[in-house]
Amino acid sequence: MDQEIQHPALPEVSERHRDPHRYPQGIAFLDGQYVPMAEAKISVLDWGFLHSDATYDTVHVWNGRFFRLDLHLERFFGGLERLRMSIPHDRAAVAEILHNCVALSGHRAAYVEMLCTRGASPTFSRDPRDAVNRFMAFAVPYGSVANTEQMERGLHVAISDAVRIPPSSIDPAIKNYHWLDLVRGLYQAYDRGAETALLLDTDGNVAEGPGFNVFAVTAGRLVTPASGVLPGITRRTVFDLAAALDLPADAAPLTRQALQAADEVFITSTAGGIMPVTRVDGRAIADGRPGAVTRRLKDLYWKKHEDADWTTPVRYP
Ligand code: PLP
Repeated sequence: MDQEIQHPALPEVSERHRDPHRYPQGIAFLDGQYVPMAEAKISVLDWGFLHSDATYDTVHVWNGRFFRLDLHLERFFGGLERLRMSIPHDRAAVAEILHNCVALSGHRAAYVEMLCTRGASPTFSRDPRDAVNRFMAFAVPYGSVANTEQMERGLHVAISDAVRIPPSSIDPAIKNYHWLDLVRGLYQAYDRGAETALLLDTDGNVAEGPGFNVFAVTAGRLVTPASGVLPGITRRTVFDLAAALDLPADAAPLTRQALQAADEVFITSTAGGIMPVTRVDGRAIADGRPGAVTRRLKDLYWKKHEDADWTTPVRYP
């Protein structure tokens, strides 16, 4: 059931920004203003661009409701703190900005990002402390790692020989744009006829892929890598769903052999939810079809998008 919600007046935007349907590509918040995505631009001198010195978080809106917004805000503010960045908005203000981006875009299924870059230094100093941190946010149409066909028949994944950046170099709890290893994995996957990639950690165990965590299901028990990965909100959600379904689930080392020999494999992301994997390195997982445990988790995951405890209705005008 929808909660009774107030519709606060939306912030002032110029007349041409007011009709959300004129901006099907989305709306961004930048320098205190709401603008169409095409107008959301930053300086090439921003450390976020020059050095990938940035953190971000992505939450989705489904059927007009944010899914687990609090958890995404918590992770984002945790990243800011670890990177010693500060923004002139508290959590409630960031939530308000995200609501406004979605409401102004008019999208009922949206991919909503909040991000902060180190910013640029007015004197082009090489000292990160001189940079002026820059907060931005945007809402664009919802997108998924897997397309409809891949959701039905399962993704085909290749294990890359690029090692995922170790946590001793970059704390993976800080959601970041250090993606060169992941992008290398993607190209290797395409070269081998696969659709996406999984990277191993420095111990040779399975880590994560470009924009997703991974789970193996063996004899009814779920395992996902314990360390060296982003603590995904969808990953966390799978633990909550598994508890509700009485399925044992552990965060533990996952070898590539255990992955290949699993009964089921699936990946998790805010962009797509719970997505089956049916081939790894050209070999079928079990009978090569999405499994029953994956389907049960996926069904409950989408059902939870109507649950008032896990969702927040967007304040559309
Ligand atoms: N791992 C990486 C490297 C990611 O970039 C993402 C999401 O973008 C994930 C995992 C999945 O995290 P979440 O479930 O919070 O979307």
